[in-house]
Amino acid sequence: MKLIADLHVHSRFSRAVSRDMTLPNMHEWASYKGIGLVGTGDFTHPTWFSEMRERLRPTADGLLELKPSFRSKSAIANPLFIPTTELSCIYTEFEKTRRIHLVILAPDLSTVEKINKELDKDFNLKSDGRPILGISAHDLTEKLLKVDKSLIIIPAHVWTPWFSIFGSASGYDSAKECFRDLLDKIPAIETGLSSDPAMNWRLSQLDKFNIVSAGDSHSPRKLGREATVFELEKFGFKELTQALWFNPLANDKKSQNYILETLEFFPEEGKYHLDGHAKCQQRLTPAQTKKLGGVCPVCKKPITVGVLSRVEKLADRPEGYKNSARPAYRTLVPLEEAIGEALDVGPGSKSVQQIWTLLIKELQGEFNVLLETPIAEIKTLSQEIVAEAVSRVRSGKLIIEGGYDGIFGTVKIFNNKERKKLEQTSLF
Ligand SMILES: [Zn+2]
Ligand SMILES: [Zn+2]
Repeated sequence: MKLIADLHVHSRFSRAVSRDMTLPNMHEWASYKGIGLVGTGDFTHPTWFSEMRERLRPTADGLLELKPSFRSKSAIANPLFIPTTELSCIYTEFEKTRRIHLVILAPDLSTVEKINKELDKDFNLKSDGRPILGISAHDLTEKLLKVDKSLIIIPAHVWTPWFSIFGSASGYDSAKECFRDLLDKIPAIETGLSSDPAMNWRLSQLDKFNIVSAGDSHSPRKLGREATVFELEKFGFKELTQALWFNPLANDKKSQNYILETLEFFPEEGKYHLDGHAKCQQRLTPAQTKKLGGVCPVCKKPITVGVLSRVEKLADRPEGYKNSARPAYRTLVPLEEAIGEALDVGPGSKSVQQIWTLLIKELQGEFNVLLETPIAEIKTLSQEIVAEAVSRVRSGKLIIEGGYDGIFGTVKIFNNKERKKLEQTSLF
């Protein structure tokens, strides 16, 4: 059975997260997106954890579901939950400050309780849904696995400059340096919005990991910006774990539980894809940064080195390298943005919302519309130009400008001339 999962999410108790990130809202919006399994996020936060205990109950196969009394009547499916959190390790090692985010998946609420009890001894878990812990990624991994060895630990958005294992400003050059003897306890890494699997395939040191994607969403609407699609015998923690541990590069025997594909944001849209300096409006390619000696041409301060440069630096394989045993991936634009582009209005406008609502309700969720539904059917339900927008997203024929130094990149589906022409043909 196919399961689309978004395993990295935040609750309203994390900094800069929408007040709307409640379990009922996450349930409702995951259903609209077509996500079958969503992380709770922030399970280390005491108030959030008590909400989790109040509102979720275990399923027969070992995941969680929202109790019926908390479900919105508008939800179009019943997505399941899994206890997850993100922990921020900030520490000094080998004379460098390291800031590394790890996503943790737990089998059930009683295990979460044990983890929280253990971490609460040394750290302040109340201050933020994503707490800062003064401990190394290695020592935290050791500590967590001592509590329960079935926990899944995944380095988050591994290329983000400031908060990740390979981050140019915060990380290491290899996963081995970071996790040392515990390297084999890590099944997967998360690409983050600014990188896609192909960029990660270029590092042979990453062959030992699966590559997963998740939305890292801070509001219900952004759920499933990225996601991982699993093939599972049934929807349980054990099966999910097996899939995360099954590495097709290391095993020639096929598993019943495995990763089918990942769904990606265009990496160029991520906030740290290219290099640059936001304050000085300098968007730079890796080659330009090299030429400038890493110094901003306007203010002479150091350039923020983005993901593309960093991958280029650590990669030991050429661009375009592919191993066919790796799961495939597809790159998407959120449906509201695609419709908005088609109609030449903002994604939040009323006309977009009308079409979006109709499509997701008729066609069982956004991922179905974006990935599976025949284009002709989308055309019948909406407009030719909307169907054309989805078709172009599928084929990747888009106009892309890379993000840099905290500024999101942009992806456009039509240029103005094309849109005019298509609008005219739509009239007939
Ligand atoms: Zn993070
Ligand atoms: Zn500058």
